[in-house]
Amino acid sequence: MEVEIATIGGYEEVGRQCTAVRAGDDVVIFDMGLNLSKVLIHDNVETEQMHSLDLIDMGAIPDDRVMSEIEGDVQAIVPTHGHLDHIGAISKLAHRYDAPIVSAPFTIELVKQQIQGESKFEVDNDLIKMDAGETMQIGDDTELEFVNITHSIIDAINPVLHTPEGAVVYGLDKRMDHTPVIGDPIDMDRFREISREEGVLAYIEDCTNAAKKGRTPSERVAREHLRDVMMSLEDYDGGIVATTFSSHIARVKSLVEFAEEIGREPVLLGRSMEKYSGTAERLGFVDFPDDLGMYGHRKSVDRTFKRIMKEGKENYLPIVTGHQGEPRAMLTRMGRGETPYDIEDGDKVIFSARVIPEPTNEGQRYQSEQLLRMQGAHIYDDIHVSGHLSQEGHYQMLEALQPENIVPAHQNLENLAKYVDLCESEGYNLGDDIHLSRNGNVIQLTE
Ligand SMILES: [Zn+2]
Repeated sequence: MEVEIATIGGYEEVGRQCTAVRAGDDVVIFDMGLNLSKVLIHDNVETEQMHSLDLIDMGAIPDDRVMSEIEGDVQAIVPTHGHLDHIGAISKLAHRYDAPIVSAPFTIELVKQQIQGESKFEVDNDLIKMDAGETMQIGDDTELEFVNITHSIIDAINPVLHTPEGAVVYGLDKRMDHTPVIGDPIDMDRFREISREEGVLAYIEDCTNAAKKGRTPSERVAREHLRDVMMSLEDYDGGIVATTFSSHIARVKSLVEFAEEIGREPVLLGRSMEKYSGTAERLGFVDFPDDLGMYGHRKSVDRTFKRIMKEGKENYLPIVTGHQGEPRAMLTRMGRGETPYDIEDGDKVIFSARVIPEPTNEGQRYQSEQLLRMQGAHIYDDIHVSGHLSQEGHYQMLEALQPENIVPAHQNLENLAKYVDLCESEGYNLGDDIHLSRNGNVIQLTE
């Protein structure tokens, strides 16, 4: 059977991930992501109103015109987890394919919300929820399976396409976490079993941290780090504010729990805080206290801040958006003095996040931090662990899967090359069984 891989997006950048795998007559598309930085660089771009081709020209969404070179029918669109660089283009591209969107329940819920917010296209693809460990028939000889993995968002999976030529493992966005704060540990046994029983024809891998030595720590390490910081502030009687990735439900859960442990009432503020945490709670992924406040709209946020100021900042922990210094996020507005919450000399601001190493983010985050400091805030930074494998995790995955072919993904050329180096040290060869690709190419694996 002919098996080929179209590297559509995310092979020259971080963002707009998209890869299609064809096995015989059947095609599965993995991820349809957005490159948010290409949108934010323009002032006031409302993507909801924009046409796909304009977004493709901006480099914001995958250029899927290469799909016209791929024979066969698309049988499923499979986003691996709910980060925007994996699901953000679904509302702009999925309607062009007569295929269901298949993903884990939390991801499907986020996709549904995104489709509802779309105003240019009518996206009515079926939405199918499938849990890790489950399989789905794709055509006569091909099967799709979800393997449980761990990442910085809940309900993330690595999809595997089982073909008569062997398994194609789409390995983007994971770390090897045996003690995640929410959900099950990564299912390494299943990866080993697939390799042993069937053989892995190809492994498509995320190269984000391929240059980082050692091992990416577990979420439990970030949790303990956070606990240490919060406990040290138990006797502080002024304002403490925390920020993290809104989609990082495990981290939000830790912040909520430690706030209560030091006698403060946690409250989630900002539109995306309300969206992600509200969705996770509704689907039963997390059990927040019954009276946990989540507010997204400007008016209810301001009302909450006024209540906090009236009843005493020392009684609360606002958990807010703005960890990257995004200009319109809550923490940035607080720094500019645009909210009723007064930051005073000695107040603490906890960044449970790392700045995404990108000039725009670094600049915005610097500005936001300076604004907070000018009001006297003390900053706690980098209370975080990455969601991506470092070198030792990559070695362990190669060991477990023993893939015949490797396709490095999810980075620019410089960082893809670092993963190529790592694979070559394990006996693979660039141009032979390592396939370094660019956006819009097709790799023929078997004939
Ligand atoms: Zn991710």
